[in-house]
Amino acid sequence: METTIIIILLVVGFLIIGNICLKKVCNSIGLQERKVAGFIAAPFSSGYGSCGRCGRTWNICKFHSTMYSETDGCFTLCEDCWLDLSPDERLPYYKNLMNEWNADSAKRASVYLAVSQGK
Ligand SMILES: [Zn+2]
Repeated sequence: METTIIIILLVVGFLIIGNICLKKVCNSIGLQERKVAGFIAAPFSSGYGSCGRCGRTWNICKFHSTMYSETDGCFTLCEDCWLDLSPDERLPYYKNLMNEWNADSAKRASVYLAVSQGK
């Protein structure tokens, strides 16, 4: 009984410390390392979405929120990938998101305009 509790505490501790370390490491790494971090984090991050480019999940990195109206925003890239890319290079990731959402043409137009404006 005691052994079971100790094992559970060790596993939970490992997961918490692992997530904290990934968060710290992920803030200053290149794309390839981000992809590895995303691959490692994914099995421990069920329910979280992820960056369309590097695959890091939203529990280990910050997403870039693109406001396409006064009240509505969307995100498909992490802040690091968003900063790496020009508005034209970002557009395919937003197109993928709009396809996932099955968004109507009005919403697509609003989002693509916001992306082209660097939002
Ligand atoms: Zn990313």
